[in-house]
Amino acid sequence: MEPTELADVEQNVSTGSLPGWGRVDELVRDAHRRYAGEQGGVVADYIPILAEVDPDLFGLALIESNGGLHDAGDALHPFSIQSISKMFVYALAIQHHGHRRVREIVGVNNTGLPFNSVMALELNGGHPMNPMVNAGAIATTALMPGATSVEQWELVREGLSAFAGRALSLDGAVYASEAQTNERNRAIGRLLRSYGRLQSDPEEAVDVYTRQCALSVTAHDLAVMGATLADGGVNPVTGDRVVSADVCRDTLAVVAATGLYERSGEWLFEIGLPAKSGVTGGIVAVSPGKGAVAGFSPRLDPAGNSVRSQLAIGHLSRSLGLNLFASAPAAHASD
Ligand code: GLN
Repeated sequence: MEPTELADVEQNVSTGSLPGWGRVDELVRDAHRRYAGEQGGVVADYIPILAEVDPDLFGLALIESNGGLHDAGDALHPFSIQSISKMFVYALAIQHHGHRRVREIVGVNNTGLPFNSVMALELNGGHPMNPMVNAGAIATTALMPGATSVEQWELVREGLSAFAGRALSLDGAVYASEAQTNERNRAIGRLLRSYGRLQSDPEEAVDVYTRQCALSVTAHDLAVMGATLADGGVNPVTGDRVVSADVCRDTLAVVAATGLYERSGEWLFEIGLPAKSGVTGGIVAVSPGKGAVAGFSPRLDPAGNSVRSQLAIGHLSRSLGLNLFASAPAAHASD
């Protein structure tokens, strides 16, 4: 992906606040229009049912920390959350255990290898390192409170629903399709167990993980979920506290290093925001204190990140001045 040239859009910096609602709305619509014709990438088909999606779907949503809402295109089209669930389950796990314990068991670094890599575990003596790829996410899900895997799944569903501000439900067809074909994740579960990184039954841990990935969301939901992490843990739409402000900070730090798989460094370099993607084509990017932007478009780059979502979120990051690393000199006495 090439950096977008934005000669026609004023560039802002991360400090300060979003412009008024009307200007943000214009820019969200503009970002959607700009990439409506983009055809790059291919739809994921390793989970059979995912290949059936309409590849032309394209939604964009931005939720401000003050509750302002912006939807464009297919922002209300449902799809399974997939890997994006990892970010929110991680937040729930560190809320429960504290980040030190989870860091010891799972880690906070990028593996630099594909999301379903078995090699990454083998190379690191069974330490998953990265909670945002499958091995680390399965180990994180296994840390969810709950006496049984059924209770753990309920807590995951309730927790992600609190982030979204509405009751999320399982897409049963996606769950069934993945559960019938996820030998690789089950192998990862067994490997984790053999290295002493899973206290629970590996089949059950992978089953809860597969269910969490099959939760049905929209780009609008993802933006609300991200905006909760941008708002110190309070859902800006419902006003309910979901996690602590420390949990938000720690989750976003991990996601900045790992959220777009082995392309995380390039993403941070170009866009400057913590973001998490999933194979159904969702990406949610979080701008602390300001809000969150979510894209949905099923065609993916080779690492498994939605091409159009990356372009549209990148455009908004520039036009709204969201890049966390951008600054402008303050007025100095000598000026
Ligand atoms: N459920 C998917 C898997 O485990 C999630 C992968 C993803 O979104 N990258 O393969």
